[in-house]
Order: sequence, then structure tokens, then C-alpha cells
Amino acid sequence: MADKPKVAVHKFASCDGCQLAFLNLGEGLLTLAQLVEIVHFAEAGPVDPDAVVDIAFIEGSISTQEDAERILRIRAHSRYLVTVGACATAGGLQALRNFADGKEWLAAIYAKPEYVQSLSTSTPIAQHVKVDLELWGCPVTGRQVLAVVRALLFGVPPWQEKDKVCLECKRRQTVCVMVAKGIPCMGPVTRTGCGALCPGFGRDCYACYGPAENPNAESLARRFEGLGLLPEAVARRFLFINAAAPAFAEAGLKRRGAADD
Ligand code: SF4
Repeated sequence: MADKPKVAVHKFASCDGCQLAFLNLGEGLLTLAQLVEIVHFAEAGPVDPDAVVDIAFIEGSISTQEDAERILRIRAHSRYLVTVGACATAGGLQALRNFADGKEWLAAIYAKPEYVQSLSTSTPIAQHVKVDLELWGCPVTGRQVLAVVRALLFGVPPWQEKDKVCLECKRRQTVCVMVAKGIPCMGPVTRTGCGALCPGFGRDCYACYGPAENPNAESLARRFEGLGLLPEAVARRFLFINAAAPAFAEAGLKRRGAADD
């Protein structure tokens, strides 16, 4: 029998939530193990970080000099490189320091900040190496991961969600929380993939799946102001989990600048 394709799961600066999407696959993990050989996945057991693989899944952002060097080695050893989650794809929550004085934050939190060897920015993997596919979400789901593995193994382009969360609400006949309750919701600019989970429970979308295709962030920011949000509150909506995504950063930084004036 021919060798099974080799897969690695690498961790960078992250909370491990996206790796749990693999572990939470349940029976799907057995399916995955039948399709591929998992050669590096420290959280699950196998450790071989320099293995040559067919697919490397990357969780987490580039946050230290060591990260910046390690991702180059992984890229050189991988046929396909796929980022999983907001951290790897858009810098994650930790990218909030890109718009602040990181040293000041370190000094406020750690007794010995000089021991923390982090870069002043947290950046997406695509700013360092070529990325073949980006999976958005915080966290991603096991369903997304399995679909990518299947597509790559069968030589077809993986299908990606691009619709906005609003469309998913309409398909599910979920009442719009912004229209019905006046709650500021990020659904009109956010990529679906979650199944419109939060609006389904009557709360606002907080954009964990990142910008949808052609998001009109500026228009939504103005709508939030119309609902009574102050510029700093609008900025916080856009500068959150996917702060380094340009479409969100632009609308957020504009409001933050107005709040600082
Ligand atoms: Fe955790 Fe979210 Fe980053 Fe995934 S994208 S590692 S769930 S913080």
C-alpha cells in the first residue's frame, strides 16, 4: 500500500483552541488518521517538528524572533501550508499590541518584563511565508479542517465560505438582532462559517471569522454611531480578534484616532 500523505500541526502564539478543533473531531479524528499520517502534533502526541510533510497546519501568529525563523523552516519542509484560525490568519487578539506601546503593557503586567522575548508586533503567517490556504475562525471547526484535508488529498481547490453572517441568519430565519433590538452586530461585514451561532442565541456577532468578501466596514461603523456608540466603542468592535485584518483595522483606527483627538 502506498504511504499515506504526511500531516503536521504546528503551534505559534495562540491559545491552542484551534488545535482542539482537531482533537474535538471525535470519530472524525479516526477518519483523519485513516486518510493521513500525523507526524507532528505536539498537543496530541507525535513530535517531529522538522518532518517533511504534504500538509502543514499552522496555528498562531508570529510573535517572537524564534517564531519568525521557525516558520521559514516549516515552509521549506511543507508542500501545502494552511493557516488555521484568527491568530495565524490575522494576528489574533495579541495583534492589539500592534496599535499600542507593547513595552508599556509588558511593564504593567510582568514583574520582570526584560525576561519576555517578544517582538513589538504580532503578525499573520502570510506576512512571513507563502500561505496556500487561510482558514478563518476563532476557533476553526473540525468540519473546516476535515474538508480541507479531503480537498487537498483529492486534488481539488478547497471550498471557502465567503458570504456574510447576515446571509446565514436569513437562511436560518434568525431575527436580526440589529434591526429588532438595536444591538450593534458585526454580521454585515463578517465571513460566515460559524452557522450564525451568536445571532441564533439573540446576541451580536463579534466577527471571529474575520472580514467577509467586500465588507463595507466604514458604512457599518457609521451605523454603530447611529445606534449611539462612541468612537472608542466602535473602534473596539473592529480592533478585536481580527485586528490585523486591513478591512477591520482601517475602520477601527479611524475611530480610535477620533476618540484620541
Ligand atoms: Fe485560540 Fe482563537 Fe487563536 Fe484559535 S484563533 S488559537 S481559538 S485565540
